[in-house]
Amino acid sequence: MASPSITCPICGAKIPNIPSAQDFTCPFCKFERRTAVGVRNESFSQPVPFENISEISDMTLPYIEDLNGYFQEKFAQLKTNNQWYLSTPVNRFYHKPTALPGQINFFNEKNIMFLLEQHGFKMSWRHNRFASILKLIVRKC
Ligand SMILES: [Zn+2]
Repeated sequence: MASPSITCPICGAKIPNIPSAQDFTCPFCKFERRTAVGVRNESFSQPVPFENISEISDMTLPYIEDLNGYFQEKFAQLKTNNQWYLSTPVNRFYHKPTALPGQINFFNEKNIMFLLEQHGFKMSWRHNRFASILKLIVRKC
């Protein structure tokens, strides 16, 4: 019997011997997918204090099933040089934030930048690089 494997949605690596497609850690880019515990709380979102932002994904990425589909959709929606604000909790070397209710995707700063660049976005602004919630503004190239 072949052991189940999955393709990492971030770096495209094939990860063998996973217990479940909803529960794995990519050994290459350290992206983590976990089974959601609890129910997503929509009221978590906060207003974004910026102008000239075409699209806002405030704490959305932790919940997206199909990450590549989501980024493809945003790329198609936005025009060249449009700005997109994103925020998501990130695992730091010294600190892993507690999972949000309903969270399935667990990023670090490196793999999220990789994901964005792979889909044609460039970072134009980043909030405090040591915070446990990463806040970014990216631009469609
Ligand atoms: Zn990976």
